[in-house]
Amino acid sequence: MEQWLAQGLHGEMSYLERNREKRYDPRELVAGAKAVVVCVLQYSKCRHDYHRTIKSMLYQLDALLHPCAANASPNPLPTQQHIFCDSAPFLERRWATEAGLGFIGRNHQFFHHSLGSKVHLGELVLTEEVAHIPSMAPIAMGCPADCHRCEEACPTGALRNSVWDATQCVAYTTHHCLVCQDVCPMNAKKAKV
Ligand code: SF4
Ligand code: SF4
Repeated sequence: MEQWLAQGLHGEMSYLERNREKRYDPRELVAGAKAVVVCVLQYSKCRHDYHRTIKSMLYQLDALLHPCAANASPNPLPTQQHIFCDSAPFLERRWATEAGLGFIGRNHQFFHHSLGSKVHLGELVLTEEVAHIPSMAPIAMGCPADCHRCEEACPTGALRNSVWDATQCVAYTTHHCLVCQDVCPMNAKKAKV
């Protein structure tokens, strides 16, 4: 990421230059952070604001994990818990990968191992160990070495040699480009759940 920033490929996303220590280490973002729970939700399951949908799900999960705290407070979110969805300096795709949920593809999208890349991510950072949530063994997956369909199909050349240039990416100007996900054979194979 440092090299990508140094090359200026983040374009107008100057916020990525700030809070790097928090971005790289959740303990700098949430004091005493011990665990990160990652939530993955398909685009098709979020008909309205996906931030609200994912945060609502994570609030419910948090209440399940902390029933005593939720009952004792009018605010169902204990102060030491933190829920994020595009709302903090947090390397969401990295933590989804660390959680064993998938991998980051050549189109720089996170691919869930069964849902594909058309997913949103959200996170709940906990300040205590959560022994009863099983961690998943990382699944060794990645793009086939000979596939470059996303790079070939990208209308602006934002994807080249496995590098994503945000300054050329339509999704960061009009927010309406899914070409590099639509052409991906890994998405075509995914179950519609
Ligand atoms: S979202 Fe569109 S413009 Fe951006 S990298 Fe993918 S195909 Fe290229
Ligand atoms: S189109 Fe091919 S190279 Fe691009 S993300 Fe999909 S599998 Fe990977």
